Amino acid sequence: MTQISNHLPTSELQALDAAHHMHPFTANAELAAKGARVITRASGVTLTDSDGHEILDGMAGLWCVNIGYGREELADVAARQMRELPYYNTFFQTTHVPAIALAAKIAELAPGDLNHVFFAGSGSEANDTNLRMVRHYWSMKGKPEKSVIISRWNAYHGSSVGSGSLGGMKGIHAQGGMPIPDIHHIDQPDWWAEGGDMTPEKFGLQRAQELEKAILALGEDRVAAFIAEPVQGAGGVIVAPDTYWPEIQRICDKYDILLIADEVICGFGRTGNWFGSQTMNIRPDIMTIAKGLSSGYAPIGGSVVSDEVAGVIAEGEFAHGYTYSGHPVAAAVALENLRIMEEENVVGHVRDTAAPYLAEKWSELTDHPMVGEARLVGLMGSIALTPHKQSRAKFASEAGTVGLMCRERCFANNLVMRHVGDRMVIAPPLVIRPEEIDTLIARARIALDETYAQLKDQDMLKAMS
Ligand SMILES: *Cc1c(COP(=O)(O)O)cnc(C)c1O
Repeated sequence: MTQISNHLPTSELQALDAAHHMHPFTANAELAAKGARVITRASGVTLTDSDGHEILDGMAGLWCVNIGYGREELADVAARQMRELPYYNTFFQTTHVPAIALAAKIAELAPGDLNHVFFAGSGSEANDTNLRMVRHYWSMKGKPEKSVIISRWNAYHGSSVGSGSLGGMKGIHAQGGMPIPDIHHIDQPDWWAEGGDMTPEKFGLQRAQELEKAILALGEDRVAAFIAEPVQGAGGVIVAPDTYWPEIQRICDKYDILLIADEVICGFGRTGNWFGSQTMNIRPDIMTIAKGLSSGYAPIGGSVVSDEVAGVIAEGEFAHGYTYSGHPVAAAVALENLRIMEEENVVGHVRDTAAPYLAEKWSELTDHPMVGEARLVGLMGSIALTPHKQSRAKFASEAGTVGLMCRERCFANNLVMRHVGDRMVIAPPLVIRPEEIDTLIARARIALDETYAQLKDQDMLKAMS
């Protein structure tokens, strides 16, 4: 049996990695010079690297390992499904049991009349589906000119040409000729960074009303949909002020604009409900799902679609699909993941135990001289690092310099906490226990102290003028 294990010394693995492996979202030459960390095993919330360090994974991989690492049940299901039916497609007027069962399960869990699932292999692919599906929907309804999709700056919806265009990351747009036409971006509801002297409530309303302004400027007959993450993840765990989402829902309803909730991170328990749309009390027409759907054990994503939209799409052939749409092994793994989540009441654990406990400890981090605001929804959180809390000042150094220093100190203290600019973000596995939260917080505090000391030493505790 082939076993991919680590019998080579770390340095040799790193050399091979540097020679042949192109890492995503990485300056590869820089990484090659320093050597990638080799992760070899994981269990629960803990990663082990090739040097034997045990690292608390505060990011659940990439926001996806919701039920934690090392669940044998998922491995068993995958092996069984591979023996029974490793692959068949769903294009040729055929279907199979894993895809049927998973679609039905998702429809049961999803709110409202979101009863139909179009499968993809990832979140990026699912958002590409959404982009084409909403335009095709309006076209089927005799309104082909309704093709503009409104999104937000600093949103993340994937990095394929379509999904990267939907996203609002300027660094992504700058490479490869994006965004594609008929995508329009409005400002994000990030009060800490952009709210100025406004109250969060007033700022939230104002940012939501940018949607109305954009619809009026473009023309209601031109706008197909608005897409947004209930809580922005990769953008830095940006939680909109309370006034934001009710106003967005009102505007989508008023102008007959489809609402796409990108639930790739928020979905499957992350916010303390099955879906972030429930936490934010919105009624999307389509939800994008991936990541937590299978807890990352197999690549799978999809679009969860309302009766109305699916009904219109069903009237003809939608010329779209992926070889691995509804892949039987991935679908079986996702189904087992959802079974475990339900039987072990993982969403209840987040809502009633883990999130309230973490919320208390997380907000206490604002005691630290360098921590401005601490935000948390369910088990996704962020802290804003600042040289001056009262004015919410940015550091004089280039954005992300201090965040990167802090991330390095986290890694050195066996904690994975990610930085987005000078915000530090966490999204631990949903099964994290209170004593593991204590460890996470203790390590985060040490990393913050060490970063602070380093900044003092290097005279970097200065605000941008
Ligand atoms: C990760 C992510 C995606 C992209 O998913 P991939 O599986 O990486 O293609 C899309 N939307 C959101 C909100 C994400 O966090």
